[in-house]
Amino acid sequence: MSALRDIAATHKAWPYEEASKLVKRYPDGKPGGGPIVFETGYGPSGLPHLGTFQEVARTLMVRHALSELTGWESRLIAFSDDMDGMRKVPPNLPHSDMLHAHLDQPLCKVPDPFGCHDSFADHNNSLLRKFLDDFGFEYEFVASHECYQDGRFDEQLVNVHIYRDPKKAKQLSFQIIPKAVDEYYRFLAAYPDQEIKEKLGNPVHHVHAGDPPQAAMPIDFGMLLNLVGVANTDDKDLLWGFVQRYAPDASPETHADLDTLIDHALVYFRDFVEESLFKRAPDAKETAALRDLDAALAAMPEDADAETIQNAVFEIGKTHGFEPLRDWFKALYETLLGATHGPRMGSFTALYGIDNVRKLIAEALERE
Ligand SMILES: [Zn+2]
Repeated sequence: MSALRDIAATHKAWPYEEASKLVKRYPDGKPGGGPIVFETGYGPSGLPHLGTFQEVARTLMVRHALSELTGWESRLIAFSDDMDGMRKVPPNLPHSDMLHAHLDQPLCKVPDPFGCHDSFADHNNSLLRKFLDDFGFEYEFVASHECYQDGRFDEQLVNVHIYRDPKKAKQLSFQIIPKAVDEYYRFLAAYPDQEIKEKLGNPVHHVHAGDPPQAAMPIDFGMLLNLVGVANTDDKDLLWGFVQRYAPDASPETHADLDTLIDHALVYFRDFVEESLFKRAPDAKETAALRDLDAALAAMPEDADAETIQNAVFEIGKTHGFEPLRDWFKALYETLLGATHGPRMGSFTALYGIDNVRKLIAEALERE
């Protein structure tokens, strides 16, 4: 354990740097007898968003890093400022008139427009807690109106606030989710074989408080989204059929995390991708290349492997003079998948099936 502590003390991973700053603030050791209290605040003035989640996650990572550095006890309080007034009515909510009638009233006094909680603040708080609980985060939740009622504000706490530099804060938008998900699983897969120093620099060490789960994801999230898009289905069994063609040893029982990822892909596709899909017609050069690709696929056995298919796609692009060759792959994504970028076509064809990809080609050629 002390080897880990020595490495962590000079490690450049940001949770250790933040935690080291805290240690420097207390040169004589942890103040008081009680645990260090980390507090992260949130205003329940609308449905919680990724920024709120990120704030709690960052604070938890620093809290865990501090415990690795010092062994100090600590707690995390997620604080909801529900005594704050509702300054504007968030868009896209039911009962907007009712909400407008409660403008500037404390959020804990505004009725729940969804009708399922005592107040609008309670509703938003419960969503945030569900989100944090689903992720297995360890925290205590406190709403300010509760503190006000039972006088908890009088307690002597050592408050530690982690401030985010707004300029440095990465803009989290829904578009980055697929890339972030795939990065996460790559970090998770790499973790078990890493040296201790690399482990401490691996984000999953901090996200999972030093104990990341085992994960082996045979298919990435980006490819699942492409699969959902072309298969045009929300039937999970059907999707698992495709996955098992590609990764015969995987099943919902052996790969529960992949099963969950398929659920997420279905929801993400419906909410963020479906509307943006547009399969364009191929131009003359692309049409000729697609015809050749179709002939090459027709000559292959249905269980041809990803590498064989990828090589054939590659050769056809070169033969037809695509320069750079990336344009050929882009044309395939745009005409077959309706997307601007996509997976390796060899892997995707092995997953979706040669016959099915030939159907996509036939549809594209009809659009010409
Ligand atoms: Zn509610």
